[in-house]
Amino acid sequence: MSCFICEKHSGNTNQPPGGYIYEDEYWMVCHFPAQQSILGRIVLESKRHFLDFSQMTEEEASSYGVLLKKLYSAIKEVTEAERVYSLVTIDGVPHFHAHFIPRKSD
Ligand SMILES: [Zn+2]
Repeated sequence: MSCFICEKHSGNTNQPPGGYIYEDEYWMVCHFPAQQSILGRIVLESKRHFLDFSQMTEEEASSYGVLLKKLYSAIKEVTEAERVYSLVTIDGVPHFHAHFIPRKSD
């Protein structure tokens, strides 16, 4: 079975623009291609292949919240966003990933 995100993590397919910007034991973070969205949109991907929150380990579930706090702080600081939208759809690729989209005051 091939999975686009697992392939990305193994380095076998196109890497995200600028490469991964954060990695820890459970998570990897990269930019979403700017030409397909707005600048500052990022994607958080689980290292392990699973679908959604119901399949997270305790460690993945608790580290997720801590990482989100860091991501929101970084996005707001870098993009001067007033709000950050987060979106977990997992359509297309059955591997956990979440989108974070900065929304400026205007
Ligand atoms: Zn996968």
